[in-house]
Amino acid sequence: MQYRIDKVSGNKLSVLGFGCMRFPKNLGIIDMRKTEELVMASIAGGVNYFDTAYAYPGNEEALGTILEKHRVRDKVFIATKLPVLIVKGPGDFDRYFNKSLERLRTDYIDYFLLHMMTDTDQWGRLKAWGIEEWIAGKKKSGQIRQIGFSYHGGQTEFLKLIDEYPWEFCQIQYNYSDENFQAGVTGLRKAAEKMPVVIMEPLLGGRLADALPGDAVSIFKKAGDYLSPAGWGLNWVWNQEEVCLLLSGMSTMAQLEENLRLADRALPGMLGEGERDVYRQVLGVINRAYRIRCTGCNYCMPCPKGVNIPGCFAGYNAAFSIGYVAGLQQFVTSTGIISEKTGSPSQCVKCGKCEGHCPQHLPIIKNLEQVRKKMEPLWFRCGIAIFRKILGRGRRKGNGSRGETQGA
Ligand code: SF4
Ligand code: SF4
Repeated sequence: MQYRIDKVSGNKLSVLGFGCMRFPKNLGIIDMRKTEELVMASIAGGVNYFDTAYAYPGNEEALGTILEKHRVRDKVFIATKLPVLIVKGPGDFDRYFNKSLERLRTDYIDYFLLHMMTDTDQWGRLKAWGIEEWIAGKKKSGQIRQIGFSYHGGQTEFLKLIDEYPWEFCQIQYNYSDENFQAGVTGLRKAAEKMPVVIMEPLLGGRLADALPGDAVSIFKKAGDYLSPAGWGLNWVWNQEEVCLLLSGMSTMAQLEENLRLADRALPGMLGEGERDVYRQVLGVINRAYRIRCTGCNYCMPCPKGVNIPGCFAGYNAAFSIGYVAGLQQFVTSTGIISEKTGSPSQCVKCGKCEGHCPQHLPIIKNLEQVRKKMEPLWFRCGIAIFRKILGRGRRKGNGSRGETQGA
């Protein structure tokens, strides 16, 4: 395992951080046996940074339980987050923070983030509620060791936000297909001048690992079979000296083992011009293929009408990147369109509840309309109606369920 130094605290952080959001699940519930195996194997492999959040269902409890059981709390750094979007006033700072401590079975947080910051107005509201004083109190008591924020807004606001407060770290989305998106490379370099930068979505929610267009996979294969598409994606991030560590949402032992092997050699400047050209070629294919830049994070869910928003977008993208039939199969499976309770785009009533929660700022309603037109054409709707009649099922209703996606 390679380690890089957090220039503010002096902590030695593993270049591979564990993004706990994608802990293995069974029917939407965290699989504790598999999760425990993964967490303990990652620690044995040298991982010392675990990223969770108040807002990830069951996540803090799972991590806290495992660390306590194996008495390894003091061997790792825990990062968790204040759910800024649902904070309604100053009383909520302590309320959510104390709950995180309780769930994580700890009395301090090493890296505490304001979750999903998008602009300086949002920071202004938090300041008006006294967040600076609150942070100062928590730092003084030792309950918060390092304070930072995770970011999902535009570059201009990011550059302002990093100067608004003496942040001790920040977390941004960054990968080879997002070099100029959100904070982007300019934001990364500016932030890295003063604080460690943690990278989230290095594989765009797994899309750069297992949902790449076939032509892109072929380019990677031709360039070198020794690396999987996921390996290529992670190496691109690690290659940059401004990056302190990246978070990978590992759900299987195979993903962890591959990532550990890669993290052994994850040095800044390790990629040459030939490799950089491979990324350029792959990017050309991706940009032609993906139409909706959904990462499958699920922040927009649940939809009150049961629309499986990330599932709809995944099927739609697959129709372009892999082929229409494969995309349609994925769409049918993820929306449950042939069942009585479907999560298809045609259930959307345009209430707008989802849009404000999307870190990618996707125009979800408009995008769902795009998906509906492409994936639910007349012939398909007729076919489904006939199929449902044969099965003797009534009119469809939304299922109100949560869409689940996976990724590395
Ligand atoms: S706008 Fe549509 S998809 Fe979004 S929450 Fe409302 S019904 Fe669901
Ligand atoms: S639409 Fe936005 S919030 Fe919903 S899963 Fe996709 S990226 Fe996440």
